[in-house]
Amino acid sequence: MSMQYDTEHPVPMPPILWDNMGFWEGIKRHELVFQKCKECGIWLHPPRPVCPNCRSFEKEWVPSTGKGTIYSWVTYLESPHPSFKAPYSVVLVELDEGVRLVSNMVDTKPEEISIGMPVELVFDDITEGLTLPKFRKVG
Ligand code: ZN
Repeated sequence: MSMQYDTEHPVPMPPILWDNMGFWEGIKRHELVFQKCKECGIWLHPPRPVCPNCRSFEKEWVPSTGKGTIYSWVTYLESPHPSFKAPYSVVLVELDEGVRLVSNMVDTKPEEISIGMPVELVFDDITEGLTLPKFRKVG
């Protein structure tokens, strides 16, 4: 994987709450899932209790293709946390389902990243208790 972690400083854990529990349970079993409204059918991310389109509380977790394109990105030249080693890039990926996910690239140099670049999902098992969805360039 392209990102290196400082083993002396634990990686910050994502807060797992009632609304996003399905997302993180999917990631743990290496499946990227997003909420989909059962009433109007739109995809939702970040997870939320109420559909912003039709106000329905009825949602389901539906697997993503894991394919998308780079919507935007930034490369950190200084580390914002001791567990992350700079330089590294944070990307905003627009999935084929239309939702956007903040993530990192693997096996991709910062200068290789561009808006519109096709990417595909990979899972990065960082620790026994933490897996993160990340992306790599296609082709
Ligand atoms: Zn809805």
